[in-house]
Amino acid sequence: MAIREILGFGEPILEQKAKRVRSFGKELKKLADDMLETMRKAYGVGLAAPQVGEPLRLTVIEIPEEEPIILINPEVTEQKGERQVTEGCLSYPGYRGEITRSETVKVKALDLNGEKMRIKADGLLAQVLEHEIDHLNGILYTNRLVNKDKLYKIEMIPDPDQREI
Ligand SMILES: [Zn+2]
Repeated sequence: MAIREILGFGEPILEQKAKRVRSFGKELKKLADDMLETMRKAYGVGLAAPQVGEPLRLTVIEIPEEEPIILINPEVTEQKGERQVTEGCLSYPGYRGEITRSETVKVKALDLNGEKMRIKADGLLAQVLEHEIDHLNGILYTNRLVNKDKLYKIEMIPDPDQREI
């Protein structure tokens, strides 16, 4: 496994729609492993392939105390309810914004072997799923701010309890 550089806001790849994954082999597994390692080092709970410079529909998620989830070609199939959340991004360290996310989401995707999977989520996992799938569509959380005043700087202290999406 290898740590990849996480690209910051302003990089064009972060505002482009990523391509569907069509081949499920060693390279894809290696990329997913690298992304997991990169995300953990940055105290993240989710990372999308465009953030490490790969324009592919692949994301890794790891909620503290839970198994990691690797999603390929994920699609949101249902979104219910609305709630206001505070959000950040590994590609924009040191900032938080207030945005609206769904209360529950359903997602379908493929795993690393190309097998179909479905997830129903609420809470942090629902938020992270929406955030990461947004990345695959070139959408950043700052595009979803309730209003522009709702973006603010925070002091960054590496702390496992202060995870970044
Ligand atoms: Zn992000």
